[in-house]
Amino acid sequence: MYLTKSFIPILKNIPSEAKIKSHQLMLRAGMIKQSSAGIYSWLPLGFKVMKKIEQIVREEQNRIGVQEILMPTIQSSEIWKESGRYEDYGEEMLRIKDRQNREMLYGPTNEELVTDIFRASVKSYKSLPQLLYHIQWKFRDEIRPRFGIMRCREFYMKDAYSFDISDEEAFFSYNKFFLSYLRTFKRLDLTAIPMAADTGPIGGNLSHEFIILADTGESKIFTDKRIFDLNSDGTKVEKKSLDELRNKYEKFYAVTDEKFNKEEFEKKVTEENRLITKGIEVGHIFYFGDKYSKPMGASVDLPGGKKDFVKMGSYGVGVSRLVGAIIEAKYDEKNEIMKWPISIAPYDVSIIPMINKKDQSALEKANNINKEFLLNNIEAIIDDTDENFSSKMKKMNLIGSPFQIIIGKQIDGDLIEFKETGKEIKKLKLEEVIKIIKKQKVQN
Ligand code: ATP
Ligand code: MG
Repeated sequence: MYLTKSFIPILKNIPSEAKIKSHQLMLRAGMIKQSSAGIYSWLPLGFKVMKKIEQIVREEQNRIGVQEILMPTIQSSEIWKESGRYEDYGEEMLRIKDRQNREMLYGPTNEELVTDIFRASVKSYKSLPQLLYHIQWKFRDEIRPRFGIMRCREFYMKDAYSFDISDEEAFFSYNKFFLSYLRTFKRLDLTAIPMAADTGPIGGNLSHEFIILADTGESKIFTDKRIFDLNSDGTKVEKKSLDELRNKYEKFYAVTDEKFNKEEFEKKVTEENRLITKGIEVGHIFYFGDKYSKPMGASVDLPGGKKDFVKMGSYGVGVSRLVGAIIEAKYDEKNEIMKWPISIAPYDVSIIPMINKKDQSALEKANNINKEFLLNNIEAIIDDTDENFSSKMKKMNLIGSPFQIIIGKQIDGDLIEFKETGKEIKKLKLEEVIKIIKKQKVQN
């Protein structure tokens, strides 16, 4: 892709409404455009990143056996009246009337709708467990939308739901998601820590928020530092190993402020291991038993002939919020350098040829390199403007490809000036460059 033909409306100055680095970068790099308070359009650069995040989230859901569906954004109020949440949800719910004067709403979450889908067809314990997810826009009329897409009104969420026959089976489902989330965030190159959390309007009693550390985060957390050294590698999707995995994390004190208890914290965590800081919630898992299945009559036949309400859990990932969260974690604000993890980078590499009206030879060389990249599934953006070196570098540092190639006027045989964004230049042959990029892509 040529920069001149791309739709990346880069801004020179930091817009004053942007208070945190992710919001600033997303506006400066032309990733999003606000259309009204807390509602954004996603432009190509931002959209590419979000779609890649979505795909990783999807793959990791599929990997633990969750089935993808797609529920609508607009729901009927009827099912929310059945569960009793129509009143409870309050002003965050966007309520709409259709032309027949029926009460509709733009879904803030989908427990009711998925329970309605489930109860219509699943009648026997033999069909359990059922694990379903969808990735869909949500609307919550947040009182104070802020920080760009981090706390907005319309946002993109992966939400999954589990249906089980007993508490024990439901905990197994819960733990599958626990593992899946650890894997998902790891692939996004994030350290997201599961913290015991309050359940809020979703309800229930077992819950973890997955939180990444950031000064600008809105969640206050209290934790034992040693939890950051844990690793989820190699865990099988089996009851025993998943129990062990969750225990391994739960051994360390890690809670959000609603769950915080000073006495307990000081008793369980020695002073040198205590960490009180802020973080961004990127995922949230809940177990709530029959909170929805009971009022909505979602029951199945049990082996002995009796019936019981299914035990449910729900599992959310803020797909659009993750774009901002990753920037908060990775953007070097001082040097104005963004470097996306290659798994979600909008482009793998930026090619920066130094050209002017008289001399286009560097662009020719860029085109030749790009041809080889295309054959190797490497996606590049070529800066084909005739701006000066420093303004080209500034722009490419905002776009954030993990690698950069600089093609100067002096072309040094078949060597290429190649660098990992933010690091030193190396002179390498094209084959070596391709090898390095491909190796990183495979690892992710
Ligand atoms: P928060 O405490 O941040 O308001 P929540 O607990 O209300 O979030 P959940 O119902 O747990 O949110 O939603 C699942 C995920 O959706 C959250 O972990 C978060 O990543 C994302 N999310 C929730 N609200 C918003 C929002 N207003 N803007 C962007 N993402 C959001
Ligand atoms: Mg939450």
